[in-house]
Amino acid sequence: QLSKRLTLVAEYLPHGSHFADIGSDHAYLPCYVCLRDSEAQAIAGEVNQGPYNSARQEVEKHELQDRIDVRLGNGLEVVQKDEVDQIVIAGMGGPLIRDILEEGKDRLTSVERIITQPNVDSKSVRQWFYKNDYELVSESIVEESGHIYEVLAAEKGDPSRPYHKESIEKEMWLGPFFLASPSETFIKKCQEELNKKEYVLRQVKLAVEVSESKIDRLQQEIRWLKEVIE
Ligand code: SAM
Repeated sequence: QLSKRLTLVAEYLPHGSHFADIGSDHAYLPCYVCLRDSEAQAIAGEVNQGPYNSARQEVEKHELQDRIDVRLGNGLEVVQKDEVDQIVIAGMGGPLIRDILEEGKDRLTSVERIITQPNVDSKSVRQWFYKNDYELVSESIVEESGHIYEVLAAEKGDPSRPYHKESIEKEMWLGPFFLASPSETFIKKCQEELNKKEYVLRQVKLAVEVSESKIDRLQQEIRWLKEVIE
């Protein structure tokens, strides 16, 4: 059974997708999608030999070798120009996802949709989309085994569309769609974040050399989180 997290990611792939799953590990996502959709095709990219071997085994187990190509390589270098319509990068930190997108920019010309699931720091992914003319089109959030996961999808378009000039900094950090209609899970995530920020603020105030700008920043973030929760 595929995790709730990856099932949510899979929902972002249209029927008959030709997609690449970068950092595929066991290739669970492409196998799940191709077993349910006979027209789907995938590239499972892996930079490490161990996960690459696991991905090959999983694909062979389901006899999907003719529709899932497992490739060893760094980031988007496993994808040729115009080969896929969607890219999935899931289960990594936001900064790593951003770096993979940045390094492989030239491979994205035919890509209609980028689906990401950053484990931490989703802001770096939103910022990359914004700077590279990708419009954030959807955000989802799911809780599984005590963790809260975000899924962000973007398409070529107007990168400024989901944001409001006066609150763009807050929206880049927390997510414009989440803020516009906060779900229970999102509020829970904000509460957890608030607890962490309040703890950090107490520690910073105890420090010998107190940085005023750091305190201001933390207090601003705490106000934003309280706006969501209260
Ligand atoms: N995508 C799967 C998921 O969401 O469950 C696996 C996530 S796993 C935590 C991260 C995987 O990304 C690892 O298998 C790792 O080897 C791979 N990875 C890390 N950096 C990579 C890169 N630059 N290019 C390709 N794969 C990478």
